[in-house]
Order: sequence, then structure tokens, then C-alpha cells
Amino acid sequence: MTEPGHPTVSTTAQPWARAGRQPRIAIIGAGMSGIAAVVKLNKAGYTDLTVFEKTDRVGGTWRENTYPGLSCDVPSRWYCFSFALKADWPHRFSYGPDIQAYMESVARDFGVTEKVKFNTPVVDLLYEQPVWRLTTADGVQETFDVIIAATGVLHQPAYPDIEGLDNFEGACFHSARWDHSVALAGKRVGIIGTGSTAAQIVGAITDKVGEMRVFQRTPQWMAPLPQKKYSTWWNRMMARFPFMQRLSYHYYFQQMLRTFSAATVGNKFMLALMSKTCRKNLEDNVPDPALRAKLTPDYQAMCKRLVFCSDFYPAISRANAHLITEGIVRVEPDGVRTADGVLHKLDVLVLATGFNPAAFILPTRVTGEHGVDLEQHWGGAPRAHRAVAVPGFPNFWLLEGPTGPVGNLSLIIVSEHQVDYIISMLDRMKQDGLVAVAANESAHNDYNAAMNEAIKKTVWMTGGCTSWYMDKSGAPNLYPWFPTRYLREMHNPDYSEYRLIK
Ligand code: NAP
Repeated sequence: MTEPGHPTVSTTAQPWARAGRQPRIAIIGAGMSGIAAVVKLNKAGYTDLTVFEKTDRVGGTWRENTYPGLSCDVPSRWYCFSFALKADWPHRFSYGPDIQAYMESVARDFGVTEKVKFNTPVVDLLYEQPVWRLTTADGVQETFDVIIAATGVLHQPAYPDIEGLDNFEGACFHSARWDHSVALAGKRVGIIGTGSTAAQIVGAITDKVGEMRVFQRTPQWMAPLPQKKYSTWWNRMMARFPFMQRLSYHYYFQQMLRTFSAATVGNKFMLALMSKTCRKNLEDNVPDPALRAKLTPDYQAMCKRLVFCSDFYPAISRANAHLITEGIVRVEPDGVRTADGVLHKLDVLVLATGFNPAAFILPTRVTGEHGVDLEQHWGGAPRAHRAVAVPGFPNFWLLEGPTGPVGNLSLIIVSEHQVDYIISMLDRMKQDGLVAVAANESAHNDYNAAMNEAIKKTVWMTGGCTSWYMDKSGAPNLYPWFPTRYLREMHNPDYSEYRLIK
């Protein structure tokens, strides 16, 4: 189907599906999504794959973040690829280095690493119907039939706009750019932020530093993390009986759906249970009532991305820890000045202030049909059709794109299903000799309008908070329905939602 007003394809081009050749596919990013894409595309018979990775290693967020205490609050036996279950996870909730090692081993074992061009950032993508011209930072240009942006969601650190930040004379760095050359023992350390990242850092280093000052703008609800080390015996059993790995994978998946997913989309019982669990966690672990009051949020638990951490409350209750709730006025050469006039003298200042959630593939410049620039098109409120496609950008697919189901879910399972969806599209192109596939503007608008309605009922909107989920549209950039619905949709593509260009 061709929508009126859209150009037809130049007859001089050699579209892959007509020429009977493999599509040349560029995958941008060698993180979790990029790895899943290569493995699944290869398996489906699409083997002409080139991965462009801006750094020298695979792993994405797990390579980028190296802060102390880095761990994953999604259970290890589920936070893994469905095609590469692992018997010997050391812990129920993996630490960052174990996940990074896993990513590297999967990339090696499944033939991903050999497809990666390392240290090769992509700076420009230009649609020249029916191909994409890709330009890397060193000026090299190549053309591809299909682009898959596997660039992740939270990869651009957000630096706070605080007066005087550049004048600080101690060490200052963002949590995602941890400076391991800075010794912390005995130092006066300040940290701005109380999200998942800050909670893990505070939990990990407070007993090692001289003084810890946590600058809290908004309190966070925190649920306990039932961490445990797996015994060698248990992991041997897992290895001996692989069905147990699969059983565990599905067990944790179902648990997460029944609890956190249900709560986010409005299950009142689960929301109440979450609130009760977080409140009890606070009461059980923060004995000082004044400190407890400062740590108590005034919004519904799960409105912000729930923090799972059992180490933060004991750490902030220590004698060398201080929770600062007065607003930050400015940073001075020797510390942070707050609204009550106090100068909090520091040697090290950590910015655990999160990420720019509207980036996705940006800042890579992406120009689609009619010279439309993706950044301008999105205007700070990125939207996509089913989180994977953007009208006017044919043969361009996003993994973990805007409005995907990212709230408290394993992103690995989401990426895997999205790759399956893209494979269905490629199969359809091959079968019908198509030149390009692009989301219909009308289907995209209908889908997003329905989302805008449904999102109003979610805890992200009704819970009385702001969070990084919110974009410039004032609504959370999230999938508002039960996540299994999304996963099912990924396996039942409705081709009428696309321009199938002959
Ligand atoms: P975040 O959740 O966005 O938290 C940023 C923190 O910095 C918030 O407490 C925020 O306060 C504060 N902040 C930002 N700008 C500030 C300013 N100018 N002045 C004072 N405070 C400021 O970032 P994050 O902790 O890095 O986590 C981001 C996401 O990464 C998480 O939500 C989660 O999805 C993911 N993550 C996951 C794990 C895991 O275990 N799976 C671990 C870490 C991170 P406000 O609340 O007032 O805005």
C-alpha cells in the first residue's frame, strides 16, 4: 500500500528484496540490544550485518557504568538472553562486572564481536531512497538497506544546571563517568541525587569514606532487594538440569509481571502492596524518626521508577552520613552551598543526576524522507510507532525506542521481541519484493493517541510525582498497557499499519 503524497522509488536503485540478495543491515550500538539483534538476525538468515560501536567494547550500559555498587535489580536468571541462559550466575541480582562479562561472552560465543566495528561512532544517517547513507565520525561513508538503532535509552548523562559547578576544586564526575583514579577512603564525599544509581553508590561506599553527604531533592520509595549468593551446588544443579534455568527464567518473568507490571498499569492491590512494602522497609531500616520523615516521599510508590536497594537505608543511617534536604544554591570551590546558608565542604562530588531520556539515537543526525530531521521531528518528545518505527523514516528501526515497556521490566526480553518484529518485516519485504517499509502516519498517530489516553490511568500520571519518564509533552514516555500485550503485538505485526513500498 502506498500512501498518497509519498514518492515512489527510483528505478535505478537496486533494492535488495527485488535483486534477491541479502539486505545490508547496519546495527548501531553493541550493547544488549545490538547483541540480541545480531544473534537473532543471523539465526533468521540475515547475515550481512555490520555493528557500529562508538567505544572499544561491547556491553552498552554495563560497559559505560562502572560506579561502586553497580548492580541490576532484575533477577539474573531472567536478566539474560532467552537464547543464552546461564547456569552459574554468582548472585540472584547480578553485579555490573558479572553482567558485562556475560555480555562479552555471549557476543564472542554467538559470533557478534566479529561483526563489530569498534571505536566507530555513527554521526549521520541520511535516507537516499531506497538506501541509507551512513557516515562515521572519521568521515567514512557506507550505504545500507536497513538501519537498526540499538543505541539504548539512558546513555547521555544529564549534568545538573547548578551555578558554580565548574568552579569546584575537588574531584567531580557523573556516576556514568566514574573516575576510578580518585581515592575515596577517608574523603568528604557528596552525591547529588537519590535515584537507583545514587542508592547503590551510597550503599556501597559510605562505610569507606570519611563523610558522606547526600543531596536529596525528592525522596524516593525504596523496596528491599532480596540479594543472595548462589551456592556452587545449586549452580551445578542448574548446569546439570538446564530445564531448571528455563523454569527460573519464566518464574521470575511471571513474578515481575504479577507484581511490578500490574502495579504500574493501575492494579490497586499491587500498588497498595508496594506502598506497604516500601513503608515497612523504611521503618525497619531507619531507626531515627527525623531522618525517616525526611526520607518519606509524598507520592505513590511506583510513580517514579521504584528503587530496589537494601543498602541505602543502613548507609544513610550511619554516623558519618548526612541527608541534606535543603536546596542547593550553588557549588563553590570547596563544597556545596545550600539554601540555609550552610557550606558543605567536600573533596569529591558525584553527580548521580540521571540521563537525558529523550536521546535514543540522538545526537546522531538522522534525516528521513523529504529531508526531515529526526531531532526536530521529535522536538524533545520522541514518539514511535510501537516503539520501533517512525513515519517518514523507511527501513529504519529502533530497539528500546520511545514509549517501549521499560518500567521495572527486563529490557532484554523487550529487545528480543522487537528484533523478532523487525525480522517479520524483513521477511515480508523479501516475500513481496518490497523496496521499503515505513510506518503510516495515520497508524502512528492513532497508536499514540490511544497511548496518550491510556497513560492517564497509570501510576506514572496519577501517582503525584515527576520523573525522568516525563518528556516535553508532559506525559511519561512509556508503554501504558500490560507489557505482555506489547510482547504479543511484536509477534503479530499488522502490515496495514505500514507503507509497503513496491
Ligand atoms: P534518576 O532516577 O533520573 O535520578 C536522578 C536523581 O538526581 C534524582 O534523585 C533527581 O532528583 C536528582 N537530580 C537531578 N537533577 C538534579 C538537580 N539539578 N539538583 C538536585 N537533584 C537533582 O537517575 P539514576 O539514578 O541514574 O537512574 C536512572 C534509571 O536508570 C533508573 O530509573 C533505572 O531505570 C535505571 N537504573 C537501573 C538500575 C538497575 O538496577 N536496574 C540501576 C541504576 C539505574 P528528582 O527526583 O527530584 O528529580
